[in-house]
Amino acid sequence: MNHRKLFVFSAPSGSGKTTIVKHLLNETNLPLSFSISATSRAPREEEVDGKDYHFLSVEDFKMRIEVGAFLEYEEVYANNFYGTLKSEVERIWNEGKAVLFDIDVVGGLNIMQQFPEETLGVFVQPPSKEELENRLRGRGTESEEKIEMRLGKADEELARSSEFDAIITNDNLKIAKEEAYQLVKKFLEL
Ligand code: 5GP
Repeated sequence: MNHRKLFVFSAPSGSGKTTIVKHLLNETNLPLSFSISATSRAPREEEVDGKDYHFLSVEDFKMRIEVGAFLEYEEVYANNFYGTLKSEVERIWNEGKAVLFDIDVVGGLNIMQQFPEETLGVFVQPPSKEELENRLRGRGTESEEKIEMRLGKADEELARSSEFDAIITNDNLKIAKEEAYQLVKKFLEL
């Protein structure tokens, strides 16, 4: 079994991809490790630095861009940078595990282009635009302005779903989790 593999889970914010990714990480028989992204956005209440993200200042983030520390990075929302550190992927591969990414659509496609053979790209689709909006509001973690920003970006992201290797529609979470599990298992040849 070759573990130098990558799994990209991308979706519009609010599709439930983080829940699916967490489920995969809890499946102890899958040799996966989460790629902890760096971000310049502020931590949410329950988020832990070095676990959910490496929380950096905008200056620190920009400095790391200059020294070429990122495999990919993006200004996902104004002044909110997000990126994958090269060191993160190396760390996980050195542990003999495959890398699991929870990143936005452009970042996901970027990784797929850099590692076409090694990556399985999965797009998590919300059942509808209305449902996406309900979920974003129901989460209650973002201001109205930020919700609008995320919904605006969702249209562009939904239009790119066909560029991924697989699409999971997150209508029923239990089924979506099982589909994700089977896709990962197959790609790892387990
Ligand atoms: P959130 O602020 O909700 O945690 O994330 C906002 C968006 O940024 C999500 O779509 C998330 O997947 C994406 N994101 C998180 N980490 C990265 C990363 O390392 N690179 C890119 N391109 N996007 C990321």
